Amino acid sequence: MDKHTLHAIDGTDVRRRLPSVDTVLQQSVSLVEQWGSSRVSGAVRAELACLRNDLAQNNDVDIRPQAIIQRIEIKLRAADQSTLKQVINLTGTVLHTNLGRAVLPQRAIDAMTKVASMPTNLEYDLVSGGRGERDEHVESLICELVGTEAATVVNNNAAALLLVLNTLAENGEIPVSRGELVEIGGSFRVPDIMQRSGCTLVEVGTTNRTHLKDYAQAINPRTALLMKVHTSNYAIQGFTAAVGEPELAALAEERGLPFVVDLGSGNLVDFTAYGLPHEPVTGTAIENGADVVTFSGDKLLGGPQSGIIAGRKDLIDKIRSNPLKRALRLDKITLAALSEVLKLYRHPEKLAQELPTLGFLTRDVAAIEQQACMLAPALEGNLPTDYHVVPEACLSQIGSGALPIQNIPSFGLAITATSDAKLRALSAAFRLLPQPVVGRISDKKLFLDLRCLDCETRFLAQIGKLKELLA
Ligand SMILES: *Cc1c(COP(=O)(O)O)cnc(C)c1O
Repeated sequence: MDKHTLHAIDGTDVRRRLPSVDTVLQQSVSLVEQWGSSRVSGAVRAELACLRNDLAQNNDVDIRPQAIIQRIEIKLRAADQSTLKQVINLTGTVLHTNLGRAVLPQRAIDAMTKVASMPTNLEYDLVSGGRGERDEHVESLICELVGTEAATVVNNNAAALLLVLNTLAENGEIPVSRGELVEIGGSFRVPDIMQRSGCTLVEVGTTNRTHLKDYAQAINPRTALLMKVHTSNYAIQGFTAAVGEPELAALAEERGLPFVVDLGSGNLVDFTAYGLPHEPVTGTAIENGADVVTFSGDKLLGGPQSGIIAGRKDLIDKIRSNPLKRALRLDKITLAALSEVLKLYRHPEKLAQELPTLGFLTRDVAAIEQQACMLAPALEGNLPTDYHVVPEACLSQIGSGALPIQNIPSFGLAITATSDAKLRALSAAFRLLPQPVVGRISDKKLFLDLRCLDCETRFLAQIGKLKELLA
């Protein structure tokens, strides 16, 4: 204990020897320069209060002003770090909702920076010099790609559905198959959205089988529209029957009702062309007779969080003029990104190269295996001897509800430990890295699926820190 660390040897309370707020502030010129006087004086007061508390239990604290200032600086710096961090997604779920879904292509990122840094003609017609329409920056692109007359965009697909149902079916009834009353990710449930949209759900059919006559019998003068919801995160198998889009579209037309399809993950192209399992394509729903389709921008589309509504012009015009649209509209940054992502679909041959989501989904499994064989010894060499790392085949998922039952062969690092606690400690250490690595524990293994690891140097640069974090 040096002479500067004060303790209550003489029986006086050390807390009385703490420097005053003013004394510390007078010596905090460089902190004030960087963080401003009100923030620094707040931090000084908080630190001194904290010290007073600590000293009640423990006198072994350095209370020299310089030491106090140093601790304040560390705290101010930490508080300035963003809570949103880049993480390395090795969960095996490519479109992980909790990890922000799609990674955007570079041209979308560049476009976002551009519109963020200067005023733009977001709602300004440069020809007439009058008011413009923000949807125009993406509407014709969506129409071209989906094959519709009109389109509008909102915050996400849940918002899209809310807006469509509130516009076309408020105070009316909507018959929906019991097999399609979907819940997605806990907070989105079709029946809840319908209720909040002001319409009444009429359940038809049974969980496994719904027939056209079930819909036909449910239609009455209060019926506002017919709807089909893509069962995007599960599949009903066995003795099943569902009414196809063409049949439902024909019934809707016969009864003079609009036919709406919530596609969930909107595929603008047929993914089987890239060797992936089949998922419904947006254009097909339109060809099948849907009057309006809704889908997400950040699922298989690979763009920013957004909800796309495409369909018949008279219906889209009504939807667009609903006052709720203003509350759900997209901002210029998202519009800029969405527009660039949509443009990539004009060149499907280059899509897998340009769009990260599709790039990850179509990565050659042999290349992933090679990566696993290279990384396994490197990782094991950086871990305590309690851990063992081997390359192992696994299955990746698309995620965000797409292709629920079909997984994609992949490769990863399977890590075992001498105890469950050690395995959990390693998983926690990975999450504490400067760029946190997120894997998944199952079957007494910590699994790191390498499908989404496009930059292994980033991974390798950090693994030297794991031992220290585990100590
Ligand atoms: C994902 C999904 C939604 C919700 O979309 P968000 O973009 O997450 O709001 C709605 N319906 C279906 C069928 C979905 O798959």
